[in-house]
Amino acid sequence: MRKICVIGVGYVGLVTGTCFADLGHQVTCIDVDESKIEKLCAGVMPIYEPGLEEMVRRNAQAGRLDFTSMHQEALDGAEFAFIAVGTPQGSGGEADLQYVRAAAESIARIMEHPLIIVNKSTVPIGTGDWVADIVRRHQSEPVEFSVVSNPEFLREGSAINDFMLPDRIVLGSLDPEAAAKVAQLYLSLRAPIMLTDLRTAEMIKYASNAFLATRISFINEIASVCEALGADVKEVAVGMGYDKRIGPDFLDAGIGYGGSCFPKDVQALAHMAAIHGCHPQLLRAVMDINRDQRRQVIHKLRELLGTLDEKVIGVLGLAFKPNTDDMREAPSVELIHLMQSEGARIQTYDPVSMIHADLYLHDVDLCQDAYQAAQGADALVIVTDWNEFKHLSLPRLKEAMRQPFVVDGRNIYDPDQMKALGFVYRGMGRGYVD
Ligand code: NAD
Repeated sequence: MRKICVIGVGYVGLVTGTCFADLGHQVTCIDVDESKIEKLCAGVMPIYEPGLEEMVRRNAQAGRLDFTSMHQEALDGAEFAFIAVGTPQGSGGEADLQYVRAAAESIARIMEHPLIIVNKSTVPIGTGDWVADIVRRHQSEPVEFSVVSNPEFLREGSAINDFMLPDRIVLGSLDPEAAAKVAQLYLSLRAPIMLTDLRTAEMIKYASNAFLATRISFINEIASVCEALGADVKEVAVGMGYDKRIGPDFLDAGIGYGGSCFPKDVQALAHMAAIHGCHPQLLRAVMDINRDQRRQVIHKLRELLGTLDEKVIGVLGLAFKPNTDDMREAPSVELIHLMQSEGARIQTYDPVSMIHADLYLHDVDLCQDAYQAAQGADALVIVTDWNEFKHLSLPRLKEAMRQPFVVDGRNIYDPDQMKALGFVYRGMGRGYVD
């Protein structure tokens, strides 16, 4: 059993802290957002993540997991301090490190005994050295410490599983002893552990996210060509995926990637590359294609409806992907803004993320279910591929709509079946069927 402090109880920090507690460690999570801590102390989850509530409750009851808004209390006796604060996009496309800086300064001021500082946030290459420098400069008295980079690869919606059954653990440090101690925390997961230097570990995270985003933009470009030439990208992706060198994952054509990681991480990597004299042309193309995917939905709607002005559009899904409530950089937000700018009226439904809609959207009707979102609609747009949307009664949906136009931004329906039911259906890269 080790004593761990986790700084930041967002999607990464809360899952990390809870899972470490579940592995038997003593964990205190600290967040500067007192409302989150109050909720957690009352057993209420500040985020939606399947399985998390039960795991938090179980470990809190067992006395292995607690929450505080005081750095002092969280760091008291801790051997490890995991930094899991946000690194949002800055105004120039760079990663904004203000929260990492604040976390490092707090650690420095409080630490009274040797500590291993583990950075889980996604940070630009060189941040580990920068954090070490900040800590050194802000200590009131010199106390030994090491910095280890431990980038996180979990996905919202399957975060607990991803933490407990990781493909790999990456640890980067100039101090092999410190890295070995962090490796010990993960030993029971029996995952491959890769030990490397700080900068390489930081780069592995960016390169991984950029590669996954590239696969999405690649298949989206292929989708556009499929559409022009009458092929079905969904089947093309299946055929490609059988090739072991390619594999089936991350080949879903649609309205592009979103969320709190891919957009900002691809942008931050391109920014880093550019300011260091590189020419990140592939990364720029990945971002361009992604932007175009949203516009394609608007083109399809214009083609079906003539104009969007005064039209009622039903939007199914607000979360950036299924099984999360996260709407940060969700395609729904950009799409709804584009539709509203052309005069459309929006009625929408999402199973969990409507609680955040006010933060990102204005003048939208929030509906009780998908059928209500379709009621009287001139067109329906599928934005998030929630399972429940795959199992709707399509005849009932059609019955509710004023016009049977469907733009399926996630390719969840079968074009032939939709046509047979009397819909005018537009998928992404599937050729027209009417
Ligand atoms: P988040 O915004 O959900 O959570 C960050 C939390 O840190 C917030 O609750 C905030 O109040 C808190 N915080 C900020 N400054 C603090 C400070 N000085 N002391 C204590 N708490 C502080 O962020 P997230 O989605 O969990 O992402 C965290 C990091 O992990 C980011 O760098 C992100 O890129 C990376 N990451 C995220 C995911 C994901 O799926 N969300 C996956 C892998 C990596």
